[in-house]
Amino acid sequence: MRKQIAAANWKMNLTLQQGEALLDGILGKVSSLGKDQQVVFAVPFPYLSQAQQKIAGKEQVFIAAQNCYNKKSGAFTGEVSVEMLQSLGIQWVVLGHSERREYFGESDQFLAEKVNIVLENGLTPLFCCGEALQIREANTQNEFVGNQLKASLFHLSAEQIQKVVIAYEPIWAIGTGKTASSAQAQEMHAFIRAELAAKYGAEVASNISILYGGSVKAANAVEIFGQPDVDGGLVGGASLIADEFVSIINGLK
Ligand code: PGA
Repeated sequence: MRKQIAAANWKMNLTLQQGEALLDGILGKVSSLGKDQQVVFAVPFPYLSQAQQKIAGKEQVFIAAQNCYNKKSGAFTGEVSVEMLQSLGIQWVVLGHSERREYFGESDQFLAEKVNIVLENGLTPLFCCGEALQIREANTQNEFVGNQLKASLFHLSAEQIQKVVIAYEPIWAIGTGKTASSAQAQEMHAFIRAELAAKYGAEVASNISILYGGSVKAANAVEIFGQPDVDGGLVGGASLIADEFVSIINGLK
């Protein structure tokens, strides 16, 4: 059974103290997760170590970095390697968020290299894809997202691709309060799963979790997560409010 996942993306928000209080608030209220449910917190680099300590002993809860570099080590001032993350006990890395692609010029090829190094080190890449508004308006979103997947993931083996978690995040729905309808989310998720099935076979495709991201909140989580091909969410704004994120976790299938 593929996992149902609630992933928080804090982005560049909160001080260390605010982040610790938020984690305490959420972890204190999450009673028991189902065996196929997971919770992930993608926190800023400087907080990884403290956050990792807070989740110690919680088997289905993980801390993620929001990014990493595509090289093993060396003269890359200001960058963070997968080995560094691993040495903190971090098991997940978000890759290819649309903000990284847009503001930091991260290309499909660069992301393919990051996916490789993350998998080589045994961490889970949470790979983001999704189209901008003008692509949706031109009704070419399937082709666009399909190309993102092909360019950054489809060089992987069947064994490797099953270690990737995909997040579909339409850019027009991120931080805008404008969520894709549950039907639009399902349609794209089904398309992504069909692309995975065409390349790797139906069984492999059915093992891969595909999360939806873009203005997920407590009020719409159950409806969106209830779609057959939606396996949870990657949540920005609403993940910064303890009660909201706890409700979102409780909305997982
Ligand atoms: P949002 O962000 O929930 O604030 O729309 C989602 C994301 O960018 O991951």
